[in-house]
Amino acid sequence: MPQPLSAAEKLKVNEIFYSVQGEGKYTGAAAVFARLAGCTTGCKWCDTEYAAKVNFLMTPAQLLAAVKKYPARRVVLTGGEPCEQPLEPLIKLLHKNGYEIHLETNGSRDINTARIFCATVSPKKNVLVKMLKKADVIKLVVDGKTKKSEILKYKKYIGKKTSFFIQPEGNKKENLAKCLQIIKQNPRIRLSVQLHKLINIK
Ligand code: SF4
Repeated sequence: MPQPLSAAEKLKVNEIFYSVQGEGKYTGAAAVFARLAGCTTGCKWCDTEYAAKVNFLMTPAQLLAAVKKYPARRVVLTGGEPCEQPLEPLIKLLHKNGYEIHLETNGSRDINTARIFCATVSPKKNVLVKMLKKADVIKLVVDGKTKKSEILKYKKYIGKKTSFFIQPEGNKKENLAKCLQIIKQNPRIRLSVQLHKLINIK
């Protein structure tokens, strides 16, 4: 008989919902979003502070059952910071069930990406170079304070596997203008906008 998981081994979940990817390489693709709760990085401008709240404690099997209610076989593990939780059993289970797994992380934990279809690293102060090298997508949010040098330092990771997107913070006009200028000067960098906010969906 398998032992029941202790609370510490369960996943802390903020919400699970079905929508369309609004950012990055797979913008426009239908996906089930599993938002895991909590992040210890503490960025001042965090736009998912609400994800600190643990609304459900779930085993990987329970999370799979919740995700299976929707028709898409694409799941986005996001947060908060999903890699602060015991993610490997969930990733194995989703993969075994034929899911295309997308992960959105700040890159602060070195995790096994072998079963992950698209690992998006949004680098913050504690990002690991190892994770930048493993990323399928590096996505940097750009605001008025972001230095050009801070943006350009990620160019070296662009390659066959890795795309680099910059995303104007809050879809703001001035941030967008800054992104466009940099992209025109550095055409291997790509633009990501928050489509879901533009079309007012979750
Ligand atoms: S790493 Fe992401 S989730 Fe964590 S505090 Fe920063 S913006 Fe928020």
